[in-house]
Order: sequence, then structure tokens, then C-alpha cells
Amino acid sequence: MGKIKGCGNESCETHKKKITYKESEAFCSKCGSLLVYVCKDCYTQLSDDTEKYCVRCLAKHEDRKDKAKKVAAGAGGGALAVGGIILTYGKKALDVAKKIKG
Ligand SMILES: [Zn+2]
Ligand SMILES: [Zn+2]
Repeated sequence: MGKIKGCGNESCETHKKKITYKESEAFCSKCGSLLVYVCKDCYTQLSDDTEKYCVRCLAKHEDRKDKAKKVAAGAGGGALAVGGIILTYGKKALDVAKKIKG
């Protein structure tokens, strides 16, 4: 998924309505301002255009990804602790963890 752009002109309707543009667009169709990269979640203008989200939203998304990974490790209820063990000791620990869970 690509990044999105928005109008950086705060008095522009596009900006107020948080209308987004494709990365390939260069200018706002309403006011003609140069488009800026904006956060996909909150429309904050991005200072770092290598990211799709602002720092705050990025942290939120990373958090979610992290949790998903731990759940995907098949640990279920004890996801946090067991996930940590697997990361540290590898597959052997996974077998141990299975035994513990019984
Ligand atoms: Zn505009
Ligand atoms: Zn954001």
C-alpha cells in the first residue's frame, strides 16, 4: 500500500474534510497547493515521508503488529510470556512451552 497525500493548506476545504490524494498527485485540486504526505490515520502532515503514519499512529500500528505476531506463535492466553521464551531459546522452548500448557 502506498502513502497518501493531503492538502497542507489549513484553510482549504480539502484539508478540513481530510480528503486524501494518491501519491502520484502533486497539487490540491481545490486550492492548487502543493500536496504533502499525511498520516493515513489522522491526517497529520508527516515530517518523515518514508513512513505512512505519524509517530503516534505508527506506534499504535507497531503495537498491534507485535501482538498479532505473539498470538500467531500459537501461545494463546500466555502469549506475552511464552512469546518471549520462544524468541530467546528457539524451538526447544516451544516444545517445553507446549508441555507446560499440557
Ligand atoms: Zn487545498
Ligand atoms: Zn497519525
